[in-house]
Amino acid sequence: MTFLESIIKQFEKIAEILTLSKKIKKRIIEPENVLSFKIKIKKDSQELTSPAWRVQHNSLFGPYKGGIRFHPETDLEEVKALAMLMTFKCSLMGLPFGGGKGGVRINPKELSEKELEEVARSYVRKIFQSLGEDRDVPAPDMGTDEKIMTWMLDEYEKLIGDKSPATFTGKPIDKGGVILRKEATGLGGAIITEEIVKKMAWQPNKTRIAIQGFGNVGIYAALNLFERGFKIIALSDSLGGIFDPAGLNIKEAIDYKKALKYLKGFPGSQEITNQELLSLETDILIPAARENVITKNNAKKIKAKIIIELANGPITERGEKILLKNKKIIVPDILVNAGGVTVSYFEWCQNKENSSWSKERVSQELNKKMKNVFNEVWQMAQKEKIDLRTTAYLLATKRLVEKIKSYV
Ligand code: NAD
Repeated sequence: MTFLESIIKQFEKIAEILTLSKKIKKRIIEPENVLSFKIKIKKDSQELTSPAWRVQHNSLFGPYKGGIRFHPETDLEEVKALAMLMTFKCSLMGLPFGGGKGGVRINPKELSEKELEEVARSYVRKIFQSLGEDRDVPAPDMGTDEKIMTWMLDEYEKLIGDKSPATFTGKPIDKGGVILRKEATGLGGAIITEEIVKKMAWQPNKTRIAIQGFGNVGIYAALNLFERGFKIIALSDSLGGIFDPAGLNIKEAIDYKKALKYLKGFPGSQEITNQELLSLETDILIPAARENVITKNNAKKIKAKIIIELANGPITERGEKILLKNKKIIVPDILVNAGGVTVSYFEWCQNKENSSWSKERVSQELNKKMKNVFNEVWQMAQKEKIDLRTTAYLLATKRLVEKIKSYV
């Protein structure tokens, strides 16, 4: 089953519980617009052509919102799945956005800065008429960052002949970006982790955590959890992992990764593979790298009691069945990694109001939002005796359905 099929299946389950009509199901499943195009750039005196997409999934609550991914394996199915996930995420969080996502099948690590800039600018040239602060608001995702958002915004403003900073979020502060945006997804994941640990009545310094993925999201989750006193026993990137049962010093691991670009060989740690990290003896496992890493093949080896999905779609449908059967608690991606889009919303607001939010305000508002939605999902799951993913999707779907019905 593909990632998209598993999200649709998840939704079908909810649609059955809510006895939704075929028409409403179609309205929620099918993307409103799919833009498919090609990006051509010059690389080493040759022409490099890359397929690219923007999927505008659903605008019931407001402009389409979602990142743009530069990755060598991305495809239309994946972008559609991620766009649909954004629709549920924004609905669950009560944000005035719909779902969208973009992607370019390209390996950013193989491009020079100039070539990367050309990809970013070409992407905007192809679809600028479909973007806009009240129409479609992109952001960074895997392989893209604030520099890419700056090029994209610059190209967009040149094309429309006007200023429109709210059209892209995830910008640097001096270009209208919001404080804490870079940290937001990881920080949001840390807030959720702290909340669930409180529910379990565990002590942070005795709670062992293993994190897969040490990019934008994994780094800030690890750092915020480390600063809150949790014991991070393992980390990994695409080249492999590091393990120390006594707990890793995350600040030093960040410096090490910055200097060498990988984690392998971090002083005092043991080397482990990404598969070994997933099956470690730990209390919490945080997949923060990419989708489909926990499958029917490795789910039964997972020893962590709680899995906190910081990446999008890290557990396959069949993997999840095994985990739930083994009484694992899965905190779903649409809740855990919603800190990013929540702070993007703050950035969009401050650009529209032409203001600048303080760090305290961003941090307080993010804390409040993540905790409130987590507690709403947790309480309903306890009351209805259902898992957290089903609960989160139920809440998100109910809101979408109410909105659809309000138009009839
Ligand atoms: P990133 O590119 O900055 O980092 C990804 C990390 O995962 C890197 O450390 C990479 O080495 C590692 N990795 C890649 N493949 C791996 C594999 N097979 N095994 C182990 N590690 C692997 O990306 P990111 O922005 O940190 O995003 C990570 C995940 O979080 C993605 O699923 C993304 O969709 C999701 N997400 C990101 C944001 C955001 O604000 N950046 C928001 C919501 C969700």
